[in-house]
Amino acid sequence: MQFTVLTLFPELFAPFWDHSIIGRAIEKGLISAAAVNIRNYAAGRHQVTDDRPYGGGCGMVMKPEPLAAAIRAAKRQCPAAETVLLSPQGRVFDQSLAGALARGEGLILVCGRYEGIDERIGSLVDVEVSIGDYVLTGGELAAMVVIDAVTRLIPGALGGADSAENDSFVAHRLEHAQYTRPPVFEDQPVPEVLLSGDHGAIDRWRRESALIRTLLKRPDLLRQQPPAPEELRVLKRWCAEVQDLFTTEDLPGAGPPSGGEPGR
Ligand code: SAM
Repeated sequence: MQFTVLTLFPELFAPFWDHSIIGRAIEKGLISAAAVNIRNYAAGRHQVTDDRPYGGGCGMVMKPEPLAAAIRAAKRQCPAAETVLLSPQGRVFDQSLAGALARGEGLILVCGRYEGIDERIGSLVDVEVSIGDYVLTGGELAAMVVIDAVTRLIPGALGGADSAENDSFVAHRLEHAQYTRPPVFEDQPVPEVLLSGDHGAIDRWRRESALIRTLLKRPDLLRQQPPAPEELRVLKRWCAEVQDLFTTEDLPGAGPPSGGEPGR
């Protein structure tokens, strides 16, 4: 997978390429990554990349010519790459879009600044992607978010062979609760089953933990993919246990059950 970021601030990416999963994926040759300065494609002595908006108003708009030249040069390097425009007006990025992008050969990520880019660049863009309903100063952080999420899905990029399979949002479920040493932290013990060495029981506990957390934190995901019969049995059993825990008088002041993890 070849990532080419088109940006006015390529230096922001140096530490990003050097560390953690991205750094290791580059080292292993699983991805290649470059941040290209859009200014290199701007004409004239001053290499101007922005101009005032037609119709007036505040702020500046990124000019189309340098952007178009930069996108076309990146396309020549990797003709199969998809061109992604980072924009608060795009499709909201999620795990399924990350999965779809990870199946491609390359991504050209176009980072806007100022008031955004000239609308006519749209004809060179395959997909417009937003990382959420808020406005950032530039597309660079959004590009890093996309690159990180996509790289995690490239086979071999994570340490464990199946580490990404259990991640949250895969199959519309959150990941199970995680614990590490010490076995007791501020009076909170690790669920006993995780110390048991019984891998079947641990797997069951994790599946149940993932399901119950999804119900408590993101019930919308359960609507996107309704529970399978086995999952429904788990949820019904858990709901019955919760009901048994509280009398009706307890409920108003009781708050949610603690974490909702099985076996706690
Ligand atoms: N005036 C634009 C608007 O209201 O739609 C916002 C421009 S923003 C200040 C500058 C650039 O930051 C955008 O062109 C885009 O590349 C990037 N950006 C801002 N918010 C973003 C988001 N939520 N997701 C992806 N990119 C974003």
